Amino acid sequence: MRIRRAVLEVIREHARRDSPYECCGLLIGTSGEVLEAVETTNVAADPFRRYEVPPVEHLAQIRRCRAAVAQGAAGLAVVGVYHSHPRSSPEPSPTDWEQAFEQFLYVIAGPVETETAMEIRGYRLTAGRFARTELIES
Ligand SMILES: [Zn+2]
Repeated sequence: MRIRRAVLEVIREHARRDSPYECCGLLIGTSGEVLEAVETTNVAADPFRRYEVPPVEHLAQIRRCRAAVAQGAAGLAVVGVYHSHPRSSPEPSPTDWEQAFEQFLYVIAGPVETETAMEIRGYRLTAGRFARTELIES
């Protein structure tokens, strides 16, 4: 999956700004490339260790993509979601797995609060398990 450098920068910056809380947002693009990261509010009851995108913000982005497609932006859609792990590596947690569904790209950035450099990784749920998806900067 290709991902624009600007998208990675938005995710990195958002993860740092919201730390020690997890940040989250939606990924807009096509089946082959992530073109935009849209920051959303994290409405999880415990944003220190969970994330939850507000359905109203998700719907707003779906509508925006549909309107863009109607105007000729072929294949534009909400293709995934990103969030951060302030204190741990960007490995999907059991909670991430519980709320994941197939077809979506899951991008995780972490850690933010430790000496280790932040890494951004992509995953997809395939046959009920998370599998790494290579993110190619475009
Ligand atoms: Zn997570």
